[in-house]
Amino acid sequence: MALQHKRILVTGGAGFLGSHLCERLVSAGHEVLCIDNFYTGSKRNLTGLLKCPQFELMRHDITFPIYLEVDEIYNLACPASPIHYQYDPVQTTKTSVHGSINMLGLAKRIKAKILQASTSEVYGDPEVHPQDESYWGRVNPIGPRSCYDEGKRCAETLFFDYRRQHNLSIKVARIFNTYGPRMQPNDGRVVSNFIVQALTGQQISIYGDGKQTRSFCYVDDLIDGLVRLMDTDDGVTGPINLGNPVEFTMMELAETVLELTGSKSSIEFKPLPTDDPRQRQPNIARARDTLGWAPSVQLRDGLGKTITYFDNLLRGQHEGAA
Ligand code: NAD
Ligand code: UDP
Repeated sequence: MALQHKRILVTGGAGFLGSHLCERLVSAGHEVLCIDNFYTGSKRNLTGLLKCPQFELMRHDITFPIYLEVDEIYNLACPASPIHYQYDPVQTTKTSVHGSINMLGLAKRIKAKILQASTSEVYGDPEVHPQDESYWGRVNPIGPRSCYDEGKRCAETLFFDYRRQHNLSIKVARIFNTYGPRMQPNDGRVVSNFIVQALTGQQISIYGDGKQTRSFCYVDDLIDGLVRLMDTDDGVTGPINLGNPVEFTMMELAETVLELTGSKSSIEFKPLPTDDPRQRQPNIARARDTLGWAPSVQLRDGLGKTITYFDNLLRGQHEGAA
């Protein structure tokens, strides 16, 4: 069957996940419009696409309304690393709440399907393990992470209210920690921090005792899950967990990064940030059943590709500075 050509809007398309998604959609033959305010994203992430006639990039902040005609909207705009989302917490909440209202209003007017990039942070510091979609979460509403967690929770509420009230075709993906090329070297997330520290001979910074866990999904797997979710029938709304269920402690992650880079860096322990979740692992039964999706990239393989990316990036910066 011939592929149906679609016009697709990706908000936050100049960011880490958004740029990979834009590439995937353009290579599938679609016309992609990316809007981004470049808060954490950059044109550099889109270098391969900027000359492509099917791709268009527009500077725009989704907290302001916009009028466009598209068939589908992937709403990814929102800073995702704790350093960046806590830098301007009011803007973070506005991006999730006002931004979602604007994108949902747009979807309603033009009758487009709309997908929200939600997050495992809606589960907060969970008492249920692994987390499945029926769990309502344990989130601090007034802490330093709340701008992100509660903003994303409110965005989910808005998506489901637009569904109930206006019968919109919505899709909500709860994304668990994802890593890969184009993460920013300075965004403070654990994978990028450990790799950059290992490659530059700095100490590996473990927050707390390193026994807290996360489950890391490689970017290509995640993008595959998002596209599959968007392609489902109208009856499938989610929320659907997308993540890799293989769980690691931060100590195990540090040891693996040291081994794969061959680095001699030592480990230093630093204070655990406020409200840092102790454990996180997705139950992906719903994604398996509904989307036929499961991640296929093992942590060591994904880390290898990410290390190569950062190695090239750091060498380029070094040579540029010389
Ligand atoms: P990122 O910071 O690399 O990308 C976010 C993009 O959104 C950036 O390009 C930024 O400039 C843009 N942006 C921010 N505020 C905006 C606004 N008001 N208007 C327009 N553009 C704006 O982060 P990412 O890791 O690519 O995450 C993308 C989405 O996926 C986010 O919504 C995030 O919450 C979600 N998510 C990511 C992860 C992960 O592990 N990477 C996990 C859970 C959820
Ligand atoms: N972390 C760490 N060292 C770092 C950065 C993060 O030990 O240099 C820990 C952090 O405290 C958390 C885990 O790694 O327990 C994942 O942090 P990240 O910011 O990547 O994601 P999130 O906490 O949002 O899941």
